[in-house]
Amino acid sequence: MSLVAVWSDGYLAHDAKWLVWAGMRLDGDEEADRAEILRAGLVQAGVELLPAEEHGRGPIEAIHEAGMIDYLEHAYEGWIDAGYTEEPGSDRVVPYAFPHPDAFGAYPSRVPKSRAAMAGVYCMDTATTIGPGTYRGARAAVDGALTAARMVRDGAPAVYAPVRPPGHHAGTSYFGGSCYLNNVAIAAHWLSGQGATSVAIVDIDAHHGNGTQQIFYERGDVHYFSIHVDPGEGWFPHWCGFAGETGAGAGEGANLNVPLSPGTGDSGYVAVLDQICAKVATLEPEFLVISLGVDSGASDPESPLQVSNDGFRDIGRRLAALSTPTVLIQEGGYDLRALGPDVMAVLDAFR
Ligand SMILES: [Zn+2]
Repeated sequence: MSLVAVWSDGYLAHDAKWLVWAGMRLDGDEEADRAEILRAGLVQAGVELLPAEEHGRGPIEAIHEAGMIDYLEHAYEGWIDAGYTEEPGSDRVVPYAFPHPDAFGAYPSRVPKSRAAMAGVYCMDTATTIGPGTYRGARAAVDGALTAARMVRDGAPAVYAPVRPPGHHAGTSYFGGSCYLNNVAIAAHWLSGQGATSVAIVDIDAHHGNGTQQIFYERGDVHYFSIHVDPGEGWFPHWCGFAGETGAGAGEGANLNVPLSPGTGDSGYVAVLDQICAKVATLEPEFLVISLGVDSGASDPESPLQVSNDGFRDIGRRLAALSTPTVLIQEGGYDLRALGPDVMAVLDAFR
C-alpha cells in the first residue's frame, strides 16, 4: 500500500493555552507542537504531504447545528467585546454556568444576554476554551479530514490527516473534551453520501468518542466501533462509552463499545481489536475511517492504558489487513516524545 498525508498550516492556529479542571487553571496539553511533531515524523518517513482543500460550511452543517458553528466562529470576538479580556482579565472563552435541562428545559430556550452565560450553551465542560485561532483551527482540521476522504473516494488506498484540534468528543449541538467540530464524523458522513452503503469508523483513541456515537446512534449506514478506557472506572467522557450502548432505531447493532480496564497493555488491547476487525470484515464497508488517537500509549498523561510502540505497530497491521480504502484522522496523543513514533508505528503498515 502507499500512504499520503494532508497538511494545512491551519492545524497550528488553535492555541489551547489553558483550561479549568477541578477549579484550577491548568496549562492545556492539546498544543500546536503536536501537529509540528507529526509533520516532522511524516517528512522523515518520506510520506508525501499534500495541501488541504477548502470545503466550506456545507459538510459541517450536515453534522453540527448551525447555531453552534456560528457561536464557535464569533465566540472569541464576543468575549473581547464584552470586556472579559480586560476585566477579569481572561484571554480565553470559558463557561461558568450550564443550562441543565431539569433547571430550564421546560421553559422556552433563550439566548442569554451575557457572553459569559453564552459560553455554557454549547460547551459541555470547562476544559475546552476558545481563543483567537480556535475556529480557524477547527475549520482547518475539518478541511484536512474532508480532503483525505475525497482522496480515498477517488481511489487512494489510505490517506492520513494529522489534524488538530481533535474532534470525536464533539456532538451535533455541543463541543468539549478539547474538540470543537467532529472531523471524523463529518468525513464519514460525507463518504456515506458518495454512494456507499456502509462506512465503518474504528476509534482507537484512549477515550470513548461520545460525540461520534451520538451523531450516528440512530443510523445504520455508518457503524461506530470504539475501544477505550472504561468510563465506569472514572475516565472521561464519564457518562457514556459503556458496552450496553448498541445503537437505536435504524442504528440498532451499529454501535459497539469495548471498555478496557485501566492498565490494559498490548495483548489485551490487540485481542479486542481482533474481535472488532472480524466484525468490520463481515460488514464489508466501502470505506474505513480511523479515529487515530495514541493516548492509549503507556507514557501518555491522559490515560492509564499501557500500549507500547510495538503494540501500535500491531494495531496498524491489523487495520491495514482489512484492505479497505482507509481515512486516518488524528485524535489524541499528549506525550510529545511518544506521539510521533507511536503514530508512525500505526501508519507503518499503510505505507
Ligand atoms: Zn483521547
